[in-house]
Amino acid sequence: SPLLDLRSSSALPLPPALYLDEHGRGRANSTGADLTAPAQRAPLQAALDSVRIEAVPEATAAEVDAAMQRLQAGFANWNGKPVTQRAIILRRAANALDARLAEFCALLVKEAFKTQADCVAEVREAVDFLRYYADIAEQDPALMQGRGVFVCISPWNFPLAIFAGQVAAALVAGNTVAAKPAEQTPFVALKMVELLHEAGVPADALLHLHGAGETVGAGLVAHAHTAGVCFTGSTVVAQIINKALAAKPNSPIPLIAETGGLNAMVVDSTALPEQVIDAVVQSAFRSAGQRCSALRLLCVQDSIADGVVEMLKGALQQLWVGKPEQLATDVGPVIDDEAHANIGRHVERLKRDAKLIGEAPVRDLLPRQIRPVAFEIERIQQLGEEIFGPVLHVVRFKDSVDEVIADINRLGYGLTLGIQTRIDSRAQRLADEARIGNVYVNRNIIGAVVGVQPFGGEGLSGTGPKAGGPDYLRRFAAEPRLDAPAPALV
Ligand code: NAD
Repeated sequence: SPLLDLRSSSALPLPPALYLDEHGRGRANSTGADLTAPAQRAPLQAALDSVRIEAVPEATAAEVDAAMQRLQAGFANWNGKPVTQRAIILRRAANALDARLAEFCALLVKEAFKTQADCVAEVREAVDFLRYYADIAEQDPALMQGRGVFVCISPWNFPLAIFAGQVAAALVAGNTVAAKPAEQTPFVALKMVELLHEAGVPADALLHLHGAGETVGAGLVAHAHTAGVCFTGSTVVAQIINKALAAKPNSPIPLIAETGGLNAMVVDSTALPEQVIDAVVQSAFRSAGQRCSALRLLCVQDSIADGVVEMLKGALQQLWVGKPEQLATDVGPVIDDEAHANIGRHVERLKRDAKLIGEAPVRDLLPRQIRPVAFEIERIQQLGEEIFGPVLHVVRFKDSVDEVIADINRLGYGLTLGIQTRIDSRAQRLADEARIGNVYVNRNIIGAVVGVQPFGGEGLSGTGPKAGGPDYLRRFAAEPRLDAPAPALV
């Protein structure tokens, strides 16, 4: 497991990315504004006042088929363009998105109920994905031959960044793209597709198909023209897609899957409790716990556990649970009624079976709120499936840190792991033993940082290669030595 230890580096807060103009020359100014700072809030406030979320019609089976025919017909033209031209279009889109930061933030607040700080970070991440894949593609132009029509299926929890990242990678490699956003967040994705069309992606190289996973998503996966699938979402759905692809007559068809996590942080007796609590609050409760990377399980060595639990109780009281439109809010509502009911049931079960540590107060009462909450459980094995909400499980351990890692490995997921210790050699050993894609030492567990920290899981958490990293685009490209020449796909 690659170790990410940024303690002694200046990488947090991250330095500004190198902003290139659409031809990859010089630096074009990013807006760079911190839209959540009081002096720079006007554009975001104006966007929040004016932006409306519109209903998006669902695609019928006939529309799915027509879209796939159109994308198949458009493949030769798009794939025939030099890589540099495709990269120019992506950078143009990145600059346009950067210029519309406030509008896209407002769309995210209103459609996905994210806090404003989360929205600013997400739009920036989308911009970075577009620029990064444009740059990487140009470094390896010979490889950038598309496979045909790529189906990109994305989740609601990063409805812009993950959507844009998948689509950008598939497009720049030469594929045409059927983009299926999550049913909860089709509108921000539609706006992103329009922006890409305005930037120069031909209409027959990228189409937005909204609808339920079981109908539109499954229909796209099953379609005869599907040459590859890029999926981010739950492990269960990835397994369904995997099966469906394997049963097709033209398999193997590549599946690039980023899936769920059951993420732990291991805290040994040498750790700094204040640092631990800060990392725990950020990693477990931010975004209402609706991040694949979010912390679910805190494993604390017995000798400092009482202190950590007491501080956690206090920290929960400080969290502000309220409206995402308000800057003071730390935790907004969860995405929909179904998520609310699922997390609610899990919390009720824990209230019966585990020891409650504490629960955050609610400042503004809204529908679909889950109060961030922490419970003490007896054994790591009590954790089953991923719980996608602000619920933290704390477990104490007495003896060996290595045994804890072995138990974590046995959970089968391998997305993120936090380690808090002052013994460097121990951190390294644990990181080596963990079958986990991303390991964070003495800091918050975060997700991808494009180009700096590629992100991807092992085991039940994904297929790799890591998004935002140098090898990612290869899976979208036709491997010239193994595949039939690209024109045969047309
Ligand atoms: P989900 O699996 O329910 O849905 C994801 C997408 O798949 C949606 O667009 C949905 O419509 C579609 N889908 C559902 N059934 C389908 C089917 N049978 N065939 C084809 N497509 C189908 O996930 P979600 O609730 O949208 O997102 C949350 C999940 O995503 C969590 O498990 C989270 O861990 C995971 N996630 C992982 C990463 C990562 O990088 N590893 C990032 C973000 C989210």
